[in-house]
Amino acid sequence: MEKKKIVLTGSTGVMGREVLKELIKILERFHIILLIRQVEKTLDVVKEYIKVKEIEIVFGDITDYESVLRCIHEADYVIHLAAIIPPQADFNPESTYKVNYEGTINVIEAVKEQEKHKKIKLIYVGSVAEYGDRLPPIHWGRVGDPIMPSIYDYYAVTKAKAERAVIESGLKYWVSFRQTGILHTGLLKGNKGGLSYHQPLKTHVEWVTARDSGRLMSKVIENEKDLPDDFWCQIYNIGGGEKYRLTSYEFLSKMYSALGLDFKKIIEPKWYALKNFHCLYFLDSDKLESYFNFRSEGFDNFLEEIKKEMKFSYKLLRLIPSKIIKEKIIKPSTLCENGTLYWIQNNLEGPIKAFWGSKEAWDKIPQWDEFCFDVCEEKIILEHGYNECKEKSELDIEDMKEAAIFRGGECLSESMIKGDLKTKLKWKCAFGHEFKASPTLVLLGGHWCPECAPSPWNYDEIAKENHFIAQVWYSNHDKNQNNFYDENFYKDILDNDKA
Ligand SMILES: [Zn+2]
Repeated sequence: MEKKKIVLTGSTGVMGREVLKELIKILERFHIILLIRQVEKTLDVVKEYIKVKEIEIVFGDITDYESVLRCIHEADYVIHLAAIIPPQADFNPESTYKVNYEGTINVIEAVKEQEKHKKIKLIYVGSVAEYGDRLPPIHWGRVGDPIMPSIYDYYAVTKAKAERAVIESGLKYWVSFRQTGILHTGLLKGNKGGLSYHQPLKTHVEWVTARDSGRLMSKVIENEKDLPDDFWCQIYNIGGGEKYRLTSYEFLSKMYSALGLDFKKIIEPKWYALKNFHCLYFLDSDKLESYFNFRSEGFDNFLEEIKKEMKFSYKLLRLIPSKIIKEKIIKPSTLCENGTLYWIQNNLEGPIKAFWGSKEAWDKIPQWDEFCFDVCEEKIILEHGYNECKEKSELDIEDMKEAAIFRGGECLSESMIKGDLKTKLKWKCAFGHEFKASPTLVLLGGHWCPECAPSPWNYDEIAKENHFIAQVWYSNHDKNQNNFYDENFYKDILDNDKA
């Protein structure tokens, strides 16, 4: 029997490498095709696979349609991971758009061009960043909650736009897996610039390990024959479950103590943003676990692994006085272009408003001893604006109208086939933009008007009209504000620096 073909994009990234490791275990049944950019860094990662007969490497670029098409030729499965992620994404909105959005369009089009396109299964990896800021008390969430990329988060903007394209692609088989924060042993050495400080200390994060994510992807393909048809054409949250739920504060204390350091002596609360990041605890991440049983033991086991694999030089850190670590090693990253203290020192109005609310709010951030870091026990479940008790097969035009009104708009279509969530309907948002979108995209996916979607970010105005968005936005914004955030902020900083 001929082996089925799996195409993997983004195989040299943190998650891609783990996916590949898992796929290699099922090589007797599958043939793997990797789309790889021919640059030193990626070649280094895949050199051990170049000689494996069942692995074919196509050198090319996700932004080049011809190489994507060559790769997807006769594919049975496509796992599409290729993306530019933060912090690089923050500084390169144009290439981020090209890779994350246009690259996904290339994948969709190449699948459609195949003779057997009705049999190909596309696995798109979306992101938890699509939900935007979900601090307590709205830190529990699920698929269907509003898609609200945080201000200045181009990565989230492009991942959401690409996900929309996948959902509306018309392909017979697709899924979007929204990936959460990924744990891997390289976390300690990762150079994230100032990105780590964008995440408020009270953020509640449900992590997953890169290895578990890899296992999940591989299991989808391995067990595909046993999956029910309604597994496909859905959106899922990837999360490690209860044992991987931590606040940022807990995460930092545990990670730094693994290094033998007391993080309160080397970091200040004022280096952290108060809002405008992402991550949450999932109400529905067990769904994928029930299908694939992919999760490992928990965060504490991950910590043990980190300790075991830690380089000797990291172990020496505990011998250096805290003050020196703080001033010479840690603080400089808050002062680079995407660093929180850089924004404060340069009095940058946009990020100060977005990440703290105001300069006064930043001034008032207390020292460690006055900070409260309890896990928030509240569990607010956001409304999706229609009767969710109904079976999906029973949803009809009245449900669509109700959902549209909840979003401050209107469903312009006058009829639909009951339960047909794939055919696009006509909608109008509160600002008069008319668009077509499937009920899957709007009701199940949490997407809405493509013209109102960022960038630019105009949530203050939108939330006044749209209850769906308002239930998130007003959890930490004032109803009287009228802020508008355009996309040029990082460009301005970079231009400034060059000058
Ligand atoms: Zn609109």
